[in-house]
Amino acid sequence: PSSVISRKVVLITGASSGIGEATARYLAANGHRVVLGARRADRIAAVAQEIQTAGGDALHRELDVTDLASVMAFAAFAQKHYGRIDVLINNAGVMPLSLVQELKVDEWNTMIDVNLRGVLHGIAAVLPIMREQGRGHIVNVASTSAHRVDPTAAVYCATKFAVRALSEGLRQESKDLRVTVISPGLTRSELFDGISNPQLKAGVHAMLDQSSIPASAIAEAIGYAISQPDNVDVNEMIVRPTAQG
Ligand code: NDP
Repeated sequence: PSSVISRKVVLITGASSGIGEATARYLAANGHRVVLGARRADRIAAVAQEIQTAGGDALHRELDVTDLASVMAFAAFAQKHYGRIDVLINNAGVMPLSLVQELKVDEWNTMIDVNLRGVLHGIAAVLPIMREQGRGHIVNVASTSAHRVDPTAAVYCATKFAVRALSEGLRQESKDLRVTVISPGLTRSELFDGISNPQLKAGVHAMLDQSSIPASAIAEAIGYAISQPDNVDVNEMIVRPTAQG
């Protein structure tokens, strides 16, 4: 039961930039076989190509996590190619911050669709395969916003708190499945480009300039969690800049 598969098949959603891209590169450099998914097909194709050129093993497939059929097809694609799925990293996420009173209902719905429903779709797509294998590992990228609520982040935090709750529930009912929640703090990526309020966006960028960590720091934490033996389940990690308040 404590065996370690050294070359895991790892599916990564939102692998076209930031944490997902860094994780794909890091895990491939450590010998894992990575399957990259995101909407920007050109970007995942380019990253996969670079990984292959560096001697790694990478596939890519266009993916929209809000669409269950797309997520099912992504998992089936990986399963067909490699014959198994060892790890799913539910990383895709969006963060259009705003005050609730601004009533940006479309942005709320997008956050729920990507950050929460997207994670559920990922679980639905791989769980039957992992159950059949008798082993598997789901890594959900939450946030420090899954642990505390900050101004302008009510809906974002709601989705991330939900991901933590869901992960714990899944963990409790699974004897053969590992569940890890990684909660990054301020990490340099494209996440903040999606903030529609210019003042808020400028404020967040100022915070990032003050203290932030590279996406590779999160990739390494994920690498640690998935490298443990099957009977060791790393459930939660918070990784943030030392100077973050
Ligand atoms: P990025 O914006 O750089 O990456 C987000 C990724 O999600 C992109 O690859 C994007 O790809 C993908 N994505 C967005 N919508 C969809 C969709 N509908 N279907 C598939 N993929 C989608 O930001 P980060 O790397 O920072 O974000 C990664 C995760 O980390 C998110 O869950 C975020 O909430 C979380 N996080 C980030 C923090 C930070 O400070 N950066 C802090 C805490 C948590 P594409 O647009 O090509 O589809």
